[in-house]
Amino acid sequence: MAATPKTRTARTVTRATQTKTGTKSPPKSRANHPTTSAVRARATKASSTRAKAAKTGSTRASATKAATTRAKTTGSSTSAKLATYRSKRDFGRTPEPQGKSPSRWKTRGNPFFVIQKHAASRLHYDFRLEVDGVLKSWAVPKGPSMNPGDKRLAVETEDHPMDYADFEGIIPEGEYGGGTVIVWDAGPYRNLKQRAGEQVPMAESYERGQIEIWLEGKKIRGGFALIHSRMGDSEKNWLLIKMKDTAADPASDPVATRTESVMSGRTIEEVRKKPKKVWSSAR
Ligand code: MN
Repeated sequence: MAATPKTRTARTVTRATQTKTGTKSPPKSRANHPTTSAVRARATKASSTRAKAAKTGSTRASATKAATTRAKTTGSSTSAKLATYRSKRDFGRTPEPQGKSPSRWKTRGNPFFVIQKHAASRLHYDFRLEVDGVLKSWAVPKGPSMNPGDKRLAVETEDHPMDYADFEGIIPEGEYGGGTVIVWDAGPYRNLKQRAGEQVPMAESYERGQIEIWLEGKKIRGGFALIHSRMGDSEKNWLLIKMKDTAADPASDPVATRTESVMSGRTIEEVRKKPKKVWSSAR
């Protein structure tokens, strides 16, 4: 408990520094894509111990303070949140969205999530959650598991625009995240996180590093937790864990058995072979 305030402060400072660095010297190479280092990391017993400590360690006061500090540091407008996303990309070279359109997954009354399968230099699944006008994003090397016993590494990446959830196509070789992308799953989600009988706002759960949500996708559904674990001493490392509920199913492995896009029905290989058809229908 005693170490908690120190950890929170360090995290806020790190994030502020990351934002400044990203704006000043935008990395253009896909070599900087977070998954490259993510794949090398391994889930350890130490990390799950740290995750438990994080889960129980935060106080309401420190979380609120961290959220307030971050809002002041980074600005709250969507445009400010997407500065890093834009700085990493040359929109004259990549077909990725610039955040100028609504997403087809947005429905009235519910926020949405999307999971994009991304065959970059290393295959991974980009897990994104709508929070306050942008898509909070994590790269999950192994994708989600329906088994509550699995802890899937989820490496935090920059906020993405809402219409990124509609993107399927090919990011050219040599550009940031170069490779093929499909929309692997998407749908509405519900915020499950409560404290004293009241719902904790998503932005606060994110700042506390303790997100709990119910996903209603076409392939995966049920409660999932995203826990800021810092495993491998990286501030970007979280864990994606299936919660124990009626939707949990260790025998089911949708990542292996459902390889098609929920938007076009196509696999990564099919999009790679005929990208133009997908681009025109998606844009
Ligand atoms: Mn990616």
